[in-house]
Amino acid sequence: MQKISLLAENISKSYNGIDYVLSNLSLEIQSGEIFGILGPNGSGKSTLIKILSRLISPTNGKIVCTFDGKVIRAEKQIKIQGFIAPYLTLFEEFKALEHIEIIFKIRSEKYPKFEALKYLEFFELTNSLNKPIKEYSSGMKQRLKFILALLFSPKIIFLDEPFTNLDESGIEKVKTLLLQFKQGGGLIVIATNDKREASLCTRTVTLNKSTTDKPDLDPTV
Ligand code: ADP
Ligand code: MG
Repeated sequence: MQKISLLAENISKSYNGIDYVLSNLSLEIQSGEIFGILGPNGSGKSTLIKILSRLISPTNGKIVCTFDGKVIRAEKQIKIQGFIAPYLTLFEEFKALEHIEIIFKIRSEKYPKFEALKYLEFFELTNSLNKPIKEYSSGMKQRLKFILALLFSPKIIFLDEPFTNLDESGIEKVKTLLLQFKQGGGLIVIATNDKREASLCTRTVTLNKSTTDKPDLDPTV
């Protein structure tokens, strides 16, 4: 089974050069973990998950990702990760399969139509294959975001508020997939303020609202 680790070293982040959202934060996450970033609104959860996934850069400090003991570059990390968040938008004028095909074309990878149909069936979207995504409910859009991320067979999954807009059945499906992913040696990071999402986590860090305090690391949770 592959071994992946994600190391954050002395991460600080300021958006305006004056106030610090994150201050001198260090942590290490290993494959097989579901790592939770917890804390109140505005405490920097989304900022930290975006830094860990290389969507934004820290003001100070660095991220190191290793795969089977070898350090991999940010570009390679991005290729082996999936990111799911309410603020990531879909190309809503397309139908689901068209959207999936386009994303695979952009990444110059072979479009796995059979796998896509299997996931669409699992997430009960098969009856909506003829609709453009703009006609989907918000929960259906969230389901499609999971499919898009999982189709690339990522090794790392970043989730910002993953249950957003999902109904009970959607939540159960996502939980099943995440636990399977973890058992297969995947690394999961969840940023959340929600008890049910947090209950999936095997370890957590709680960020403070304060812009200067260091976060409390709680490896026992
Ligand atoms: P959380 O996800 O915990 O609610 P965020 O990471 O979204 O927190 O935000 C933490 C702080 O950083 C907030 O004060 C927010 O206003 C600020 N912030 C987040 N994104 C930006 C941005 N792109 N530009 C300026 N400030 C930002
Ligand atoms: Mg957030």
